[in-house]
Amino acid sequence: AAVHVPSAVHHIPPEKVCGRAKDVIRRLQKAGYEAYLVGGCVRDLLLGITPKDFDIATSARPEEIRRLFNSCRLIGRRFRLAHIYYGRDYLEVATFRAPHDDSSEDGGKVNDEGRIIHDNVYGTLDEDVWRRDFTINALFYNPISGELLDFVGGLEDLSNGQVRLIGDPEMRFREDPVRLLRAVRFAAKLGFAIEEDTREPMTSLAILLEGVSSARLFDEIIKLLHSGDGLNTFRLLREYDMLQHLLPLTAESIEEDSSGNFERMVELSLGNTDQRLREGKSVMPGFLYAVLLWHKVNLAALALQTEGAPELQALNEAATDALRDQVDFTAVPRRFSNITREIWALQARFRYRDLRRASALVGNVRFRAAYDFLCLRAEAGEPVKEDAEWWTAFQFASQEEREVLCRDSA
Ligand code: ATP
Ligand code: MG
Repeated sequence: AAVHVPSAVHHIPPEKVCGRAKDVIRRLQKAGYEAYLVGGCVRDLLLGITPKDFDIATSARPEEIRRLFNSCRLIGRRFRLAHIYYGRDYLEVATFRAPHDDSSEDGGKVNDEGRIIHDNVYGTLDEDVWRRDFTINALFYNPISGELLDFVGGLEDLSNGQVRLIGDPEMRFREDPVRLLRAVRFAAKLGFAIEEDTREPMTSLAILLEGVSSARLFDEIIKLLHSGDGLNTFRLLREYDMLQHLLPLTAESIEEDSSGNFERMVELSLGNTDQRLREGKSVMPGFLYAVLLWHKVNLAALALQTEGAPELQALNEAATDALRDQVDFTAVPRRFSNITREIWALQARFRYRDLRRASALVGNVRFRAAYDFLCLRAEAGEPVKEDAEWWTAFQFASQEEREVLCRDSA
């Protein structure tokens, strides 16, 4: 049964609720449907964090939602959702779902490993609660009445800082192994502990990540490592033995590299990324992958060079191999992996010390990223400190100073 928590107790500041979301909910309720804010936004509002987006759950069916809102578009086949547009922005409105049930006819289906493969059974609010992942993600808030609904003890877990799966943890992780990653992500983002029963099966189930589609894993990796808490998340992924199933080349590289340079490089890079995001700067998935796969690529390229291949060609060949091996586990869309390749290829050109080629390199679109990458290598302990210093001086130097820099290192 639900615990109804009035606004005097839960302290969600009404002015923090997105006005448009409130309008949509009011309109749904006026038309006779139930409608609530749900998921991450309720959790974040209760923690005093500004929500990224405001998701709405309702008893109205997708078709019924579309009839109420002109700017509504229905999306998704496996999981049908309504998007209500405001210019370029939209609010996501989902119809209550029932937990999947093996025996029902058009119901949710589960495959041999217990994984959900079909998810379009509509249900009631009371049912919708139980198919959600963590208790802290299953709170429903009615911004019109100010009432909060808690069926699963989510409020208590929020105040105790616990990430707890709803229901039997092993079963829920098997249904959807991405929940393993979500547990780690919320623990890192919120600074919460993973509750004991939830934590217990995680390490042994980590291998199930290898059955998740590589496209979905790419999205998750970006959420894990590019959301502002990447360094903490990365450490938790290692602690729960998930890294080897998600980024096996990275996990192997850390084991293999006894110098510790590579591990330092990854940690430094994730720390920098978190810092950039705090400052509102952009971050590039192509750069992230350049770091994560660098050790393998660098070693393979050096081996090819010993066999006589020129440096640039060796780097390109090694890049192709490493990206192909990685893609078996996690997709890397071409628009990102092309940048990854460019960053690696430019590492070879940082040997240039003649004015013409060095000046051209500074003008390359990828110079900035490749230079940052070089500095990261130097900081992590690779023997490229002098290169990094030379390029730091060269890029900001006047024409005459550049000539002197080139002459001195000729
Ligand atoms: P974030 O702040 O990262 O957006 P969120 O909790 O809103 O966190 P979403 O991925 O946006 O996460 O999902 C919205 C809600 O949908 C969740 O709060 C949860 O209730 C439910 N949900 C999402 N993914 C799953 C899943 N794999 N299994 C069960 N429920 C899920
Ligand atoms: Mg969300």
